[in-house]
Amino acid sequence: MARVLSIHAHPDDAEILAGGTLALLAGRGHHITIATMTPGDCGSADLGPDEIAAVRRAEASSAAALIGADYVCVELRDLAIFNDDASRRRVVEILRRTRPDLILTSSPSDYLCDHEATSRLVRDACFAAPAPNYQAAGESLTGIPHLYFMDPIEGKDREGDPVSPEFLIDVTPVFDRKRQMLACHASQREWLRHHHGTDDYLIQMERWTHERGKLAGLQYAEGFRQYRGHPYPTTPLLQELLA
Ligand SMILES: [Zn+2]
Repeated sequence: MARVLSIHAHPDDAEILAGGTLALLAGRGHHITIATMTPGDCGSADLGPDEIAAVRRAEASSAAALIGADYVCVELRDLAIFNDDASRRRVVEILRRTRPDLILTSSPSDYLCDHEATSRLVRDACFAAPAPNYQAAGESLTGIPHLYFMDPIEGKDREGDPVSPEFLIDVTPVFDRKRQMLACHASQREWLRHHHGTDDYLIQMERWTHERGKLAGLQYAEGFRQYRGHPYPTTPLLQELLA
């Protein structure tokens, strides 16, 4: 069985962009960890940072528990994710603790600085984690994990241009579970209404997952791209696990 780490910026990102794929992998018996860089401490207009962070850690844990996954937080802070030395060592610690064969992370181009910084941090932490002399807690990994990028939010880069997935995963059979996972993030309904002008984040997610499905004649799908830079593994592990 494979060990899979989903590591995105904020609580709810993974559920929106890869919740169905994670549910499918969990259903096949693979070990899943859902990690976020921050506890979503800026995601409220009513609660202070520590209060909303506590709420959102609990929401993320509940969402992960629906598929038998663990939840961990790197404990950086919203709008303060940077690909710097201290942050990279913290991400390497998470990699050495969770020991993934396969990582799903954020798109290198996305609407939000936190998402883009997360993508670079995770890419570089994958390279560092197997190096025994790289100073971070935990035993070094035996190799660089397979690395995949989720879609950017709404499938668009910073300038609003479309980003095409390399392949799609049919999540139609687990769409209800994906919806339940995202619904655990109840605090975000009010926040997204207040700040993003989004009427209902569940409807938005359903519309988005259906949009990706239409690319392949499916009802619901999620898109991914595999990172194949030197010397990262290039075998299609995710595609094979779900074939
Ligand atoms: Zn986010």
